[in-house]
Amino acid sequence: MVKILKVKERPLSLSELVHEASLVGGRLTEEEMKKRIEPCPKCGCQTWILLPIHSKPVKEGGKRYMHCQDCCYPSHL
Ligand SMILES: [Zn+2]
Repeated sequence: MVKILKVKERPLSLSELVHEASLVGGRLTEEEMKKRIEPCPKCGCQTWILLPIHSKPVKEGGKRYMHCQDCCYPSHL
């Protein structure tokens, strides 16, 4: 069955990002998370799309992967 999902549009706060990362074992503090978050190194876009916890890359890689909204450059929290 085809599923169409709506991406959460409200930007996540630092504490929410820390929580999202912790779901897969991340242990960053809010301060560390703040330093980690940067614009896309490839296109400079400042919006990332966080992959769902149950997505294949997250399950297989064990990290909270995300990709640039504009060029799909991959990164993680
Ligand atoms: Zn980009």
